[in-house]
Amino acid sequence: MAVTRFAIALGSNRRHGTHGSPAKVVRAACCALGADGFRIERISTIRSTPALGPAGRGFANAVLLLSTSLAPPELLKKLKALERGFGRRRGRRWGPRVLDLDIILWSGGCWEGPGLVVPHPALRGRRFVLEPLAEIAPGWRDPITRLSVRQLFARLQRRRPVDRAPHGI
Ligand code: ATP
Ligand code: CA
Ligand code: CA
Repeated sequence: MAVTRFAIALGSNRRHGTHGSPAKVVRAACCALGADGFRIERISTIRSTPALGPAGRGFANAVLLLSTSLAPPELLKKLKALERGFGRRRGRRWGPRVLDLDIILWSGGCWEGPGLVVPHPALRGRRFVLEPLAEIAPGWRDPITRLSVRQLFARLQRRRPVDRAPHGI
């Protein structure tokens, strides 16, 4: 397959034994993707939200752009292997996890198959994805709405604060 570009969202809300804090996990995962042979084109700022109180968990989120000749399902397989490599076990969706890697956008457009939908269906409502994505790829157009990332982010900002989750994975 020809080389195409992907936007990948990285998230962590659990410490790793060796790497440490969620932000360090996200940084280490960016390095691991590069070491895995992917061409990393851009990496956003890593945003950290410290834990609120002793029971809360800190979050870290970032987005990166990579190019590869892998098709979307092959890339997802690699991403899942990397999540496992960081100690992620099968668990509740949205539960605490060391590393979460989601495919957000693909330069090839839309992909829909078993266990994989691209663009990521929650892309348009997630500030913790749109904000870092707007930093590194503001002009990338969502193939579904035809709006640019910049426009999607602005649209989300206009929504009432109560509709927005401040952070997450
Ligand atoms: P969310 O997808 O809402 O962010 P999550 O990341 O917590 O939730 P997971 O438990 O990590 O959800 O993933 C559940 C399944 O979603 C994965 O096993 C994967 O097959 C599937 N999936 C579908 N579309 C995508 C995508 N674009 N990127 C990553 N995984 C996807
Ligand atoms: Ca995921
Ligand atoms: Ca996710």
